[in-house]
Amino acid sequence: MRGRLVVGNWKMNGDTASNARLLDAIARGWQAAADRGLAVCVPFPYLAQARERLAGSAVAWGAQDVSEHPSGAHTGEVSAAMVAEFGSRYAIVGHSERRQAHGESDALVAAKAAAALAADLVPVVCVGETLAEREAGATSAVVTRQIDAVIAALGPALARCVVAYEPVWAIGTGRTATPEQAQEVHALLRRRLAAAGAGSIALLYGGSVKAANAASLFGMPDVDGGLVGGASLDADEFLAIGAA
Ligand code: PEP
Repeated sequence: MRGRLVVGNWKMNGDTASNARLLDAIARGWQAAADRGLAVCVPFPYLAQARERLAGSAVAWGAQDVSEHPSGAHTGEVSAAMVAEFGSRYAIVGHSERRQAHGESDALVAAKAAAALAADLVPVVCVGETLAEREAGATSAVVTRQIDAVIAALGPALARCVVAYEPVWAIGTGRTATPEQAQEVHALLRRRLAAAGAGSIALLYGGSVKAANAASLFGMPDVDGGLVGGASLDADEFLAIGAA
């Protein structure tokens, strides 16, 4: 459902000592609010630590990926049920770093979203175009293709997802989409999702979100919050984004 949501993506960062400081500071600094959510998606080995440190706080946690398979001979993979067993609420699927560096297809991302839903996790499904695709005028076609794969695979369960628009050229580059650029793609995604009966799910923007630009991005009509990479590693910055 719509409502402000900010999700941190720690990527492959952290260790037990620094995580403890970060998790404790976030838990201390975040007040429960009915219309605002805050979550961190941590590396798999730290899910137990996230549960330990965030239990009883208003901050949710989750993973950055899940396997499309429920169990079995998939060496190195982590199932959605395993992630759920640690009290997780969210699982990011289809992050551009996985699409690009691990060759994840639209169909695989859709299967991972389905696996997350089957384990009662909320998939945060990432879509977004590369710089070359934007410059070729292909942004709409790319994000439509990506979201349509998920719509086709999930049916009514789509309404239990969160979608994040993350232009690849804005991730970790310091180059943020303008609020208008974000809104244009979010409106397109919203129309597509609405036609599939899921027009009221949360749509997050991701790509170099910081405390300084969060309010202008989140102020756009179809932007419900953010998926935050680098800035989620700094408690003050992350809390300020959550409060924007
Ligand atoms: C991300 O990892 O999803 C992301 C948006 O990263 P950053 O905020 O660092 O651009």
